[in-house]
Amino acid sequence: MVIKSVSLQNYTSLRVGGEAQLVCAHNEQHVLEAFQYAKNNNLKLHILGSGTNTVFKETLTNVLILKIDIKGVEVKEFDDHVVLTANGGEIWDDIVEHAVDNSWWGIENLSYIPGTVGAAPVQNIGAYGVELKDSLVSVRVFDTHKSEFTEMSNKDCLSSYRDSIFKHEKDRYIITAVTLKLSKIPKPVYTYEPLISLFGNNDVSIMDIRELVIKTRVHKLPDYNVYPNAGSFFKNPIVSREEAEHLTKSYLQMPLRKVENGYKIPTAWLIEHVAEMKDKRVRNVGTWPVQPLVIVNYGDTTYQELSDFADLIIQKIENGTRIRLEKEVNFIE
Ligand SMILES: Cc1cc2nc3c(=O)[nH]c(=O)nc-3n(C[C@H](O)[C@H](O)[C@H](O)COP(=O)(O)OP(=O)(O)OC[C@H]3O[C@@H](n4cnc5c(N)ncnc54)[C@H](O)[C@@H]3O)c2cc1C
Repeated sequence: MVIKSVSLQNYTSLRVGGEAQLVCAHNEQHVLEAFQYAKNNNLKLHILGSGTNTVFKETLTNVLILKIDIKGVEVKEFDDHVVLTANGGEIWDDIVEHAVDNSWWGIENLSYIPGTVGAAPVQNIGAYGVELKDSLVSVRVFDTHKSEFTEMSNKDCLSSYRDSIFKHEKDRYIITAVTLKLSKIPKPVYTYEPLISLFGNNDVSIMDIRELVIKTRVHKLPDYNVYPNAGSFFKNPIVSREEAEHLTKSYLQMPLRKVENGYKIPTAWLIEHVAEMKDKRVRNVGTWPVQPLVIVNYGDTTYQELSDFADLIIQKIENGTRIRLEKEVNFIE
């Protein structure tokens, strides 16, 4: 096991953070060793994938970062579906590309989401009407409470909109592999723009869907290698029918989308029209002009500045609507 001192700026897409001790796990034995080392040395173990949904405070004390770098993919073929197991350190979009190349349906709408396979179940990644949980069979984890490797079923993960057991029992489970069931029979999901435009066209291929998703994402989202960011900074709030009716009296144009448990309001709209913070900056931190739900580090911003900027947006929206936004990005201190 090799522990190195690194700058966490280089391990997160927001490029915020200071020096820390980091160890990479290339297999499950490494996970076990890191866990035991952290336990013996009274260190808190923080699990890291690609750092595209994480912002670290500059000073972290008594923390060991465990970067999951376990590679490998296994596919079992059946008549009408495949069961694909990818290890936690695989890059999510490589798996999507592999599935699309083979016409295995289920995750094509999740094209081009950055990050690792191991992190995907944590916030139950989602985009364009599809969530990971729709294809998820099980997750292999190291359970740090029981000190053993175990399998968790889709049900055990308690996945919902940008949420799962892994967010609530933080740092308990270390995900080493994810198993998906993908269909050989076309199952396109066209419920969201821009994919709605493909509805009714029988010649649409799985590759057409992937390409349209990628094209849209490239247009809307800043490249984090140029403009450091972590994608959507906040979740879209869900309100009851009564709240929705009340809000639309004050904000006639407020868009609402009916979902299972109420009405979802696009946070990007709230940031633009309630907080009036679209394309606004405070020092080196600001919202992205095309998609204000994305907060960009325009220079050498700090954990505190980012946090204050996010809180300013939260406060303004709460003052105008009584809705308190929830952060999607993980703040680690
Ligand atoms: C430009 C951009 C666009 C994005 N678009 C979307 C989108 O459309 N939909 C969406 O859902 N997300 C989106 N995201 C967010 C991000 O891509 C996902 O949350 C992704 O799953 C994070 O992967 P990661 O490996 O970078 O996770 P990290 O940031 O490294 O970790 C995220 C969280 O997961 C935990 N974690 C990581 N790996 C493991 C593991 N193996 N076991 C247990 N816990 C672990 C970490 O401790 C942390 O709490 C976007 C981000 C960016 C930068």
